[in-house]
Order: sequence, then C-alpha cells, then structure tokens
Amino acid sequence: MVTTVILSMLCVHLLCFSVMFLLISTRLNGKKLGMDVFALGNLLLGLAYILQLLNGPASWGAVSVINHTLTLCAPVAYVLGALRFFDRPTPVWRPLLALAIGYTTLQVVVQWLLGSEARHALLAASCALLFLAMTVAVLYARGTVAKDLRVEMVVVAVLIGGIGALNAGKCWMILTGGLQALDLNTSFQRTFYIYMSFLATVLPPCAVWLVLRRLTDELRSMAAHDPLTHLLNRRGLTDGLNAHFRSRDAEPAYLLIVDIDYFKRINDTYGHTVGDVVLGHVANVLSTTARQGDLTCRLGGEEFALVCLGSDQAGALQLAERMRAAIEHSDVPGISLSRPIRCTVTIGVSQAFTSTRALDESMQQADAALYRGKTAGRNRVEAASACA
Ligand code: GH3
Ligand code: MG
Ligand code: MG
Repeated sequence: MVTTVILSMLCVHLLCFSVMFLLISTRLNGKKLGMDVFALGNLLLGLAYILQLLNGPASWGAVSVINHTLTLCAPVAYVLGALRFFDRPTPVWRPLLALAIGYTTLQVVVQWLLGSEARHALLAASCALLFLAMTVAVLYARGTVAKDLRVEMVVVAVLIGGIGALNAGKCWMILTGGLQALDLNTSFQRTFYIYMSFLATVLPPCAVWLVLRRLTDELRSMAAHDPLTHLLNRRGLTDGLNAHFRSRDAEPAYLLIVDIDYFKRINDTYGHTVGDVVLGHVANVLSTTARQGDLTCRLGGEEFALVCLGSDQAGALQLAERMRAAIEHSDVPGISLSRPIRCTVTIGVSQAFTSTRALDESMQQADAALYRGKTAGRNRVEAASACA
C-alpha cells in the first residue's frame, strides 16, 4: 500500500515536471537545451509507472510489454536530451522508435523462450547497464564538455549511479527469488521507489539549474563580447584588466590602439558587407598574433585595442610591429573579387600602466600616438612619448 502511494506520487512528479520542462523549452527560442527531450523522457517514465499501477508489476500481456519498453526508452530520452544540452545535435524520434520496436520484439522472444522472470530480469539488467554507462559518461563529461559544471556533474553521476546499482540489485533478486521480488510490498521495492521518488524530486531542479547556468553564462559572455568580431568589447576589456590587476604580482600592461587605414574607402568601394568581412579579418589576425593572456578588443567602428600583459616596452612595440606587418601582408579571405583586398593599420602604443583606473589615460596616450602615426602617413607603429 505504502509503495503504491509512493508510486502514484512519483507519477504526479514526473508528469508535472514534464509539463514544466516543456514550458521552459517553449521559452528558449531556437536552442532548447534538450528541455523538450527531457520532457519526453519524463512523460515516457510517468506513463510506464501509470501502466504499472493499473496492471500490477509482474503480469504478462501487451500492457506489461509496453510498460517495459517505455521504462527503457525514458532514460535513453534523457541521454539524447543531455547530448542536445551539450550542443551535440542528435535525432530523437528515430532512435527512440527503433529502440521501442527492437526492445518490444526482444521481450516477446525472451518471454516465449525463457518466460516472465527472464523478461523482467532483462529490463532490470538493461536499466542497470544503461544507468551505469550514463554514470561513466557523466564523469567523463566532467573533464571534457562540462568542465564548467564539475560539481553538478558529480552530483548527477552519484544520483544516477544509485539507480543503476538498485536496478542491478533488482535483477539479482528476480534471478534468485523469482517474480515475488517484484511485489510492491517487499522492502526492496519500497526502497527502490522511495529512491526513484527522491530522484524525480531532486533531478528536475538540477536540470533547471544547469539550464539557468548555461543561460546566464551566455548572457555574461554576450555582454562582454562584440557580436561581429567575437572579440572582447570595452566592458569585457575592463573585466579582463580587473582580473589581471587583482593578482598581487601583476606586471604592468601596455595598451595598443589599432585603427584600419582608409576604411571608409573600403566601405565606399566594395560595400558595407565586405567592410564587415575586413573587420573580421583584422580581428582574426590580431587575436592570432597576440600572445596567450593578452586581451584583444573591438572598441567600435574600425578601431581595436590590445592590452599586452607580462611584457616590457620593447616587447609591446615588437608585438605591435608584428601585427601591423601581418595585416599588411595578408589577403582578406572569403571575398570573390578579381583582385584580393588588403588593408593596413596604424597602431598607437601607450606607456606602461598598472591599474584599470589608468586605462582612460592610457587610451589618451595611445590615441595621441595613433594620431601622429596617421598624420605621418599611416601603416606604422607610433609609441607614446615616454616609450619612444
Ligand atoms: P583613417 O585612415 O583616418 O582612419 O580613415 P578611415 O576612413 O579609416 O576613418 P573614418 O573614421 O573616416 O571612417 C571609419 C568608417 O568606418 C566610417 C564608418 O562608416 C565605418 N564603420 C564603422 N563601423 C562599421 C561597421 O561595423 N561595419 C562597417 N562595414 N563599417 C563601419
Ligand atoms: Mg580608420
Ligand atoms: Mg577610426
């Protein structure tokens, strides 16, 4: 009786959270982060448990076969949803349908050849293997696609590892004790469904938390980057500088302002779309020429900034010269014109500065140097007076 109540509550949980996941997925325009597939997983499992309540656990018939197929398809749907969450586009309906047909056929064959016990043991063993494989996959993801979610992944791995172990136990009990092991009044079944209820209560908030983290991380990244070139924007540059100068032994920084020469002419001659491609090309050369740790930023229009960290004046000037030469000697790719487009840049380099508060002053120094470079003929590097 107690287990029947727990099982009923479990169904209500699963179906409520299924609706919630579906509602969340409709709010996530385009990228649904797998929430629609998690909703499907919950629906399949909820329906499986409803069938179990109506039919009793150990009977043989179409309802029981459908119940077992739904029970196995549900965790597979969670796996497919997780793949989508981690940006691995994957089909859902076809693999689930193939699994449903394949497993239904297998059940009929096993029932016919080996009987009911074997069919129930097969479900428990399949679930045990699937959940244990999911546990390993989640622990592996912790070091690869989910490096930013390490703690969350450990919690999820422990939770689904538990259900894998319980299914392995259930398989063992059926093989040794027969179908009586499936009686809802046994202490094992009670423990099994209490744990399932616990999971159905804890895992959905975990999923919502993961989605929330993804969205807020994306928002933070969007707020710190320029959408056209994907370089940092002014705000991202300030955040990066704050992080650098927070370190007690932070070395001085140098600001390089990079301005494309005669960019208006490029726009006027080839159009704004080509102008945008040129901006992307310059951004790409700047970020590939910069050293690891340097901050590369688009200030706006055709002006870029690079903060050179962990270097001296000579190093900053050398880096600026390398960038100028790399842009001068590279064609803008991806434009099908008879003659490849090239552009040049003029770069102004500030004096050393040691705090984010000094950024404005360094901007003025680098700007003044840039202006001198422009009036001296462009395509050159100019240092602020103390650097010269
Ligand atoms: P100088 O050598 O003195 O720097 O001349 P310039 O033509 O590069 O500079 P100017 O400031 O006269 O022109 C900058 C142009 O950049 C004007 C503006 O239309 C263009 N621009 C600003 N933002 C964008 C953008 O996002 N995309 C494109 N295609 N053009 C932009
Ligand atoms: Mg310009
Ligand atoms: Mg300019």
